[in-house]
Amino acid sequence: MKHYKIAVLAGDGIGPEITQEAIKVLKVIEERNAVKFELAPALFGACAYFETGDAFPQATQDICDQADAILKGPIGLSHEQSKQIPIDKQPERGALLPMRRRYNTYANFRPVSLPKSLAHFSPLKPEIIGEGIDLVIVRELVGGLYFGDKEMGVNDKGLRYVRETLEYDEEQIRRIMHEAFKLARKRRKLLHNIHKSNVLKSSVLWNEVMEEVALEYPDVEVVNFLVDAAATALCLKPTQFDVMVMENMFGDILSDQGGGILGSLGLMPSACIGPDVAYYEPSHGSAPDIAGKNIANPYSMIGSVAMMLENSFDMEREAKNVWAAMQGVFADGYSTADLSRPGSGVTMISTVEFGDKVVEKLRQMPKV
Ligand code: NAD
Repeated sequence: MKHYKIAVLAGDGIGPEITQEAIKVLKVIEERNAVKFELAPALFGACAYFETGDAFPQATQDICDQADAILKGPIGLSHEQSKQIPIDKQPERGALLPMRRRYNTYANFRPVSLPKSLAHFSPLKPEIIGEGIDLVIVRELVGGLYFGDKEMGVNDKGLRYVRETLEYDEEQIRRIMHEAFKLARKRRKLLHNIHKSNVLKSSVLWNEVMEEVALEYPDVEVVNFLVDAAATALCLKPTQFDVMVMENMFGDILSDQGGGILGSLGLMPSACIGPDVAYYEPSHGSAPDIAGKNIANPYSMIGSVAMMLENSFDMEREAKNVWAAMQGVFADGYSTADLSRPGSGVTMISTVEFGDKVVEKLRQMPKV
């Protein structure tokens, strides 16, 4: 019997609701396999700040340090509520970035996937979706503007000013490029390098290093795209992309656009991989507008579990079954409110019902 410790950080807003559904799936995986998941819940985000005065308390750090993997729900408050927390303790600056830094999770994989049969979920026309959207955004996660030095103050002229720095060294670029090329090699052998070298010098170095790394992967075709053009192309012809690699902030923004072209951020799971422990989280935020209503889409959280099974526990077959179970629920004509547009013929179900249906499908699948 294999034994894995998972730190479970349910987070804020819809976090606890969708985490509960992900845990149901982990329990079924235990039933079907010789595996035991020891779940260690811990406070993280705004809920942790209100309880302990710290968004990433020491007790949570200790639990994460000892875990084989971390399952993290979204964190954060609405724009207005955020003002209750001092700027440096707010969930992203006080918890999320410190966690990424602590575990050096430099590679963030964000699949953007919609089969042709679910084209009705997307705001794009069926002819644009064609045979389906299936791409992965590979985002550098611990460098760039989000991690550079920051200062705020009053300058010599008496004006308030802010300075944030965007810094990458070649090693940081090289290691994310290797991740992207290796993934491209396993897929369509096509890599879109997203940059802004016509304006940013950081992109000039990014591209130089990319070209050096590319020499080691002659079988992978590289297509260069300016980030602004890539944003348009994601809407106009998303099927041209397979693996897209980009720096931290570009990845943050384009991956939310990825959720947009699918029809909901609720379809966006992710894996954040570092040299030691990895953590898995939906790409989206805590969705305060729908929190506590049992209407959030747990696909992103259950998909993050699937990515955990594959990447952290070598359970590729069961990961595929989890994806298939979720697709099966959609194929039966059900979905949560975010994807059930009036007249679309989709039957609206709650967060809990979605989780129950996934579990039911999974139980019907042949054991691995
Ligand atoms: P958001 O991603 O929380 O929500 C944007 C829209 O998508 C909302 O309409 C929301 O209802 C919808 N949505 C998101 N996830 C959904 C799901 N699973 N099912 C159905 N609908 C879903 O973005 P926001 O409102 O700008 O941010 C809210 C908070 O989340 C902020 O405090 C922000 O800082 C934080 N945030 C956290 C993370 C993270 O934890 N990694 C990422 C992004 C934003």
